[in-house]
Amino acid sequence: MGALSRRDLLRISAAGALGAVAAAQGPALKGGDKTGPGSGPAMKPPIRARMFWTWDHSTEWALNRPGAQTYGAANTYTRGNDLFLQDYTNLLHWCGRHGIDAVVVWGLLRDCHGGLQSAKRLCEVAARENVRLLCGAGLNSYGGVYYEGDSPYSLERHLQAHGELYALNAAGGKLPHHACPSRRENQQFAAGSLQWLFKNLSLGGVQIETGDCGVCQCKLCRERRKHPATAFSWEDMALMYPVAAGAVRAASPDAWIVCETYSNPEPQRGPEKAPGFGDSRPW
Ligand SMILES: [Zn+2]
Repeated sequence: MGALSRRDLLRISAAGALGAVAAAQGPALKGGDKTGPGSGPAMKPPIRARMFWTWDHSTEWALNRPGAQTYGAANTYTRGNDLFLQDYTNLLHWCGRHGIDAVVVWGLLRDCHGGLQSAKRLCEVAARENVRLLCGAGLNSYGGVYYEGDSPYSLERHLQAHGELYALNAAGGKLPHHACPSRRENQQFAAGSLQWLFKNLSLGGVQIETGDCGVCQCKLCRERRKHPATAFSWEDMALMYPVAAGAVRAASPDAWIVCETYSNPEPQRGPEKAPGFGDSRPW
């Protein structure tokens, strides 16, 4: 598994989600009711929740329109507000009829496709379809809750206004787009952003990430961590995820909170090197 790239894993995840749909015995079956004519005793499905994980820029339902992108992450969005709404409305409509419980959207909030107003409309669509809309929310990286735009809840804007709160690389320079997780101001910013998010949008939940493109190497972070890190750190997750979950729970007690781990979340023992992205062990 160690040789798998992120793209490989995303492809596998997508295949798994589609496989789960096929296993749902047809459309409009959700929440464990999988009995049908002649099917005998009720059987609980092995998969309890089905989710699609998406980036806004690569979610394309209406084909052959300008601005389509078929791969990548953290790309510029190039399809415009109307197509953003059309693509996700159609996707949510499909999910509601095919047993998909939730859709994660990275890049949900961008000025270029309508910001909060567009997201509100998609929350309404998701509610009608009985599908949970989950906002992808970076905590130390990936833009914060407001992925791109002139918002006080944009992580980029927060860091530009407070240059001393950037994460640092091993040479002591700023790690672009990354916040130092040890700084209390950044923890408070993440928690306050999530509270704002749930106060303004009727979301079904969030998928939270600390980042997998480098960790802060400042003195505070180096002294805090007891275990080696690679491009991500479980200790950073252990620090930030409770902060984020507490903020979400306070605003929306039944929200789903999906915590990205980037690898099998097993404590690292002995002299083995820290796991990289996608590293895992047999179950
Ligand atoms: Zn730091």
